Amino acid sequence: MPDRVREAVFSSTGFRIRAAQSTAANARFARWAERVAASLFFTLFPADCRICNSPLIQVSRLPVCSDCLQTIHPIAGTLCTICGETCTAPIGVDPADVYCASCQQERPPFGRAAAYGSYDGVLRDLIHLLKFDQVRPVAPVLGRLLAGTIAALERGLPPGSIAVVPVPLHARKQAEREFNQAELIAEYALKKLARLERFELCTRGLVRRRETGSQIGLTRNQRRENLRGAFAVKDSAQIAGRNILLVDDVYTTGATASECARVLKRAGAAGVWVVTVARTLKVSELLTVPDFLTDEGCEKVEHQLSVAAQG
Ligand SMILES: [Zn+2]
Ligand SMILES: [Zn+2]
Repeated sequence: MPDRVREAVFSSTGFRIRAAQSTAANARFARWAERVAASLFFTLFPADCRICNSPLIQVSRLPVCSDCLQTIHPIAGTLCTICGETCTAPIGVDPADVYCASCQQERPPFGRAAAYGSYDGVLRDLIHLLKFDQVRPVAPVLGRLLAGTIAALERGLPPGSIAVVPVPLHARKQAEREFNQAELIAEYALKKLARLERFELCTRGLVRRRETGSQIGLTRNQRRENLRGAFAVKDSAQIAGRNILLVDDVYTTGATASECARVLKRAGAAGVWVVTVARTLKVSELLTVPDFLTDEGCEKVEHQLSVAAQG
């Protein structure tokens, strides 16, 4: 019987241990050797969680501790049926018929947008680690989250094959970053969903013709104007007549998703759906701050007290 080779990889240094095992005793020895090597490694090269800075105690390529990962949760509550924004359902209204103010005002050019979690806390930090610090072992974690969201959305998609199109980066940005995070996350998600057999990754259909810069501080119309002409369909054979699942890391205002959906539909896409790892939520709509906690409320109380004192 050939020896089975067990291998542990410490990505940050490329340090590798190989321990051969052919019997139960050898297996126990290999595990012991691995533990000794790991503790020696962390004694010599201690690493901290890139989010909370606590020491990492498990051997992993992902430089984030399990406590941080456990704080990530899916979006809960009543959501807009189209864009996934948090909403308050009016009494007596079916949650499946709830639409946010923005979607009521203007229906987006995509069927539905779904996101795994809120774009804050650890989830936001993970996305930044991948995007801005090029920590690639984060991609499988985000891919797993995206896979769950796609699986939930899948039941509402039309039958037949679905072309999965990651939102493209401009060629210069992609060369600088060395990868497109949306594509990387989509790849890992589709590996998880291989059993569904109807998703096909299409990375050459849609391109970004120009860099659009930051959208922060722009109004809805300004964002749309800023994105006009930014995307184009390069290979219409990949798009025409197909149902498309557009993938991105974050859904902020929906301007990018809407512009991509418009371009894809103009090129003949039968329908477009959107899925992202995270989404910014207008949490303020859900929270009503008690009057006495606001500056205005305090001033009102002070004024009433002074009037009472004078009286
Ligand atoms: Zn941590
Ligand atoms: Zn909406």
